[in-house]
Amino acid sequence: MKFGGTSMAGIERIRSVAARVKREAAAGNQVAVVVSAMAGETDRLVGFCREASPLYDPREYDVVVAAGEQITSGLLAIALQAIGVPARSWLGWQLPIHTDEAFAKARIGTIDTQALDASLSAGEVAVIPGFQGVTADGRITTLGRGGSDTSAVAMAAAMKADRCDIYTDVDGVYTTDPRIVPRARKLAKVTYEEMLELASVGAKVLQTRSVGLAMKEKVRVQVLSSFTGDDAPMADTLPGTMIVGEEEIEDVERQLITGIAHDKNEAKITLTSVPDKPGSVASIFEPLAAANINVDMIIQNIAHRSPSTTGASSSATDVTFTVPAADLPRSIEALNQARETIGFGELIHDMRVAKISVVGVGMRSHAGVASSMFTTLGARGINIQAISTSEIKVSVLIHEDETELAVRVLHTAYGLDADEAA
Ligand code: ADP
Ligand code: ASP
Ligand code: MG
Repeated sequence: MKFGGTSMAGIERIRSVAARVKREAAAGNQVAVVVSAMAGETDRLVGFCREASPLYDPREYDVVVAAGEQITSGLLAIALQAIGVPARSWLGWQLPIHTDEAFAKARIGTIDTQALDASLSAGEVAVIPGFQGVTADGRITTLGRGGSDTSAVAMAAAMKADRCDIYTDVDGVYTTDPRIVPRARKLAKVTYEEMLELASVGAKVLQTRSVGLAMKEKVRVQVLSSFTGDDAPMADTLPGTMIVGEEEIEDVERQLITGIAHDKNEAKITLTSVPDKPGSVASIFEPLAAANINVDMIIQNIAHRSPSTTGASSSATDVTFTVPAADLPRSIEALNQARETIGFGELIHDMRVAKISVVGVGMRSHAGVASSMFTTLGARGINIQAISTSEIKVSVLIHEDETELAVRVLHTAYGLDADEAA
């Protein structure tokens, strides 16, 4: 069982989580619980780091931001004990949960489950703080924002759990964020592949890595709500959304488009007048890769002749791409340092962009998905700044202010509105 930030926000909520855990344990299940920090807490801790220094040491950042989960894991163990359920917390370094050294976005390697197995066999509930791990030389790491989902799936895989139930503040995975489109529909099942794509383009209901890991380790994952009363159906009746293999979905249940996601956490960078010659693009992306910055959408405009100071004209091109907004200051720094090598004119950046994506395995066998996306947006006067596609996804970059409108009109255009799909 994994409980997210809103489910853990305050002692009342933690008591309600404890009651739910007790119910599952009383039904004869051995339970390990992974918890997030209280809602808003990780943002607060990140804020402290930024305030202390915008170019903070990621190793110390991890020490700070891992603290939120330490608090909630202890509190849940206390709340469980208070209602007669034997429980104890196991911090990342105590188990340990081994990770690599990519601080702030570490990857889990192996998890020692010996102590946990013993604890569960002795009838205890194990409470594990999500989001954290430890390097080989004993330094605290965190797994990237939203990483408790990945902790939970990794834990489930390591312990060979029957299922990994991700409890959150919505009762499943919807065709799009139900907070933006009230007519979004809950999906009973979604494939690993589509969920992976949806998560990677902004559907934050599950962290992308957690889905990739679940797919690889064949962990059965259910997304369900923690905001229900004592009379809520048991998790075994599968009241939420199951993430499943493609073979578990019947043809008749298939839609052309499964879901729509948005992401406001990208920033756009344009380098003007980049010399149009072999190696140019490499000289831009090498310094970014060296700084461990993930570039997402890339467009290179067609070359144009730009007059040079010597009077001769040389061929130059503009290169536009997106990076995570949080990495914008570091990206600008890395690019400016490489300015001589790249030889660009100006560096223009824009935070006020949003990426809108439509995802569905149906795209593989149907043409026209991208074109109807462009037509729908164009009809509403929404300008497209960049495009990228994969086999089962089309993404566009637009102005941030148009996010909600774009998601709504696309949701309707692809026939996903709840009232249409009876
Ligand atoms: P937690 O704190 O439990 O990890 P998150 O806030 O990370 O919860 O994720 C749950 C939120 O994800 C929901 O409140 C919802 O607004 C958002 N969300 C985005 N896309 C979707 C979607 N397709 N289906 C369900 N929820 C979504
Ligand atoms: N508390 C961390 C975050 O807010 C991890 C998580 O909640 O999944 O990103
Ligand atoms: Mg989350």
